[in-house]
Amino acid sequence: WRRLTSGLARTATSLTQGITDLVTKRKLDAETLEELEDLLIRADLGTATAARIVEAVGKGRHDKMIAPDEVKGLIASEVEEILGPVAKPFVPDAGQKPFVVLMVGVNGSGKTTTIGKLAAQWRSEGKRLTLAAGDTFRAAAIEQLKVWGARTGAHVVAREQGADAAGVAHDAITEARANGSDIVMIDTAGRLQNRTELMDELEKVVRVVKKLEPTAPHAVLLVLDATVGQNALNQVEVFARTAGVTGLVMTKLDGTARGGILVAIAQKYRLPIHLVGVGEGAEDLQPFSARDFSRAIAG
Ligand code: GDP
Repeated sequence: WRRLTSGLARTATSLTQGITDLVTKRKLDAETLEELEDLLIRADLGTATAARIVEAVGKGRHDKMIAPDEVKGLIASEVEEILGPVAKPFVPDAGQKPFVVLMVGVNGSGKTTTIGKLAAQWRSEGKRLTLAAGDTFRAAAIEQLKVWGARTGAHVVAREQGADAAGVAHDAITEARANGSDIVMIDTAGRLQNRTELMDELEKVVRVVKKLEPTAPHAVLLVLDATVGQNALNQVEVFARTAGVTGLVMTKLDGTARGGILVAIAQKYRLPIHLVGVGEGAEDLQPFSARDFSRAIAG
């Protein structure tokens, strides 16, 4: 929680400073409320959320003075109400062996890192893991996954750069069965520049996985980089429609002023939010808590 608060400090500061400037020495009239709405939209919370918060703040307080802390409290409670229903812990189903997780998202969003962090966490719980280096487009991604494998003691299945991602996924599941893995995590490429190719590749991976394990993938996690702000909404749109996303991971909440985007996404898509990344280290992945997040964002 401390990590999250310090991580979200930039998001919170720009919002709370604006609120203090806005309501100090000023009545809560229509103009003030309108400016508050703008402020919330600029904080990436989304128009629907902004309207909802402004309604809550304005209710019964028109033309009255309001303390900045009261506004922050109202923001926190509205945000918590939006996030509460979508905050879901990510718990692999032990009845599925191996439990197959497909990681999707654009390049640089943090897929490989998130796989590494989850691997570290699950290895410390004594689980057996197989990681599939399915981002065969970039040699660095393959290397990075191998490093996480060596660091955590997870088995890594990799081929050379340019190899067929579905082939890697196939081998990973076959090897995971042979070595008794509890969980398989499949990394994928994220070239949004060429959507058709990307989606064809994802579909092929899913097809191959299903052939071996008809109920798999058991989870399709979309990894989103909080620093891209409004672009994240577009990414949810594309991946949710084509990749069967079951839940979200939001990375890089540390040091961004755009953490509010998570609220806009929750309000618009209602997809489960499982985890948040607050740094590059193995321990910098946390279960998503609606309460902690809403308190952190409202300062
Ligand atoms: P991928 O292309 O989706 O696999 O993305 P990577 O896992 O390679 O991550 C891209 C960059 O973002 C790397 O430098 C990571 O260390 C960094 N990164 C990933 N998650 C976080 C996070 O939560 N916070 C910060 N600050 N950096 C992160």
